[in-house]
Amino acid sequence: MSRFYFDHNATTPVSPDVLDAHSRALCEVYGNASSIHYFGQEAKRRLESARWQVADLLRCDPKEVVFVSGGTEADNLAILGTLRRSAADRRHVVTTRIEHPAVLSACAQLESEGVEVTYVDVSASGVVDPDDVRRAIRPCTALISVMHVNNEIGTIQPVEEIFRAASEAGIMFHSDGVQAAGRIPMEEPPPADLYAISGHKFYAPKGAGALYVRRGVQVAPILYGGRQERELRPGTLNVPGAVALGEAAEWARRNAAEEAVRLGALRDRLERRILARVSGAGINGQGAPRVANTTNIYFDGINAEALLIALDLRGFAVSTGSACSSGAVEPSHVLTAIGLSKERARASVRFSLGRSNTADQVDDLVEAVVEAAAHLRKLSPVAVEHA
Ligand SMILES: *Cc1c(COP(=O)(O)O)cnc(C)c1O
Repeated sequence: MSRFYFDHNATTPVSPDVLDAHSRALCEVYGNASSIHYFGQEAKRRLESARWQVADLLRCDPKEVVFVSGGTEADNLAILGTLRRSAADRRHVVTTRIEHPAVLSACAQLESEGVEVTYVDVSASGVVDPDDVRRAIRPCTALISVMHVNNEIGTIQPVEEIFRAASEAGIMFHSDGVQAAGRIPMEEPPPADLYAISGHKFYAPKGAGALYVRRGVQVAPILYGGRQERELRPGTLNVPGAVALGEAAEWARRNAAEEAVRLGALRDRLERRILARVSGAGINGQGAPRVANTTNIYFDGINAEALLIALDLRGFAVSTGSACSSGAVEPSHVLTAIGLSKERARASVRFSLGRSNTADQVDDLVEAVVEAAAHLRKLSPVAVEHA
């Protein structure tokens, strides 16, 4: 059976050019980038050229790129590191209800340390209103954290305006850019003081990411050790990981705009065809600006996990946003935040497209969805109204 991958927001395969650069670096560049001898200096040289590639993608200065292990670490470093550096009377954070767990859990950790956190609501289409963020600001606010692109529904947040509001108020602004980097073409530096990216979301290996730290921004480290990465991130550098991240960044810088057009057309085709052929289906986050590769669709009366498994049996990998906590399936916090009932949230499936997907695959996926949905509704009593 052929298998097709429609879960690129969870992770992406390593692309052939990135794999090549990565394995060459693994074999050839084994020096410690802190060593003074030839091997060390060679590693350092490769590391710095990777930093240039990432900086080119982010349209920033290489000095503003800090290599870390991925999106989770970048978010944690930004959030915890900012609060550790801010004044004792600034113990308040503003974020949203639709952030990734990497941000929400870092905020929960801060709450357990006595920091107050305001979780701003989003609209029914999944976008935060910058005025709501402004209203949440207090004199003691140290940090605002709003993601650039939501990983579950693909909505693009008005981060430029929020960054302006934060800057005017003298507050640090962090944005989780993991689903935006390499997907949304950038013409200017990230619209944030701190911006997290992760290689495995754009065809580099797992375990390589970066935090953009705008010039002049002060963050405390969250790990202690050597003096690597401007003393912000100790530990012997993963040079092959950085090289791979750089290579993936260069591909994205050259091709992201064109690829977004291609994926947007495929995504629209997928949505159009599913909505035309499956009753009781609709798009979550509709009406909002969305990243090109993502759609999240509810299928009323159908259990999303059952649909996911039915599609997997037919060779198609998709996902639901729900998390399995202590055996019970909890509906996605993002879908409930945009006002979906628990039932509809539990009936929602995310399709996220990427480089390998073609129009033929999309058409086959549509057939599989139509079949699986009809089959599941036949089995379930709630299905009658949609028959
Ligand atoms: C995947 C993801 C992360 C976590 O990145 P890792 O590199 O897997 O740690 C953080 N934020 C968003 C929005 C993501 O999609």
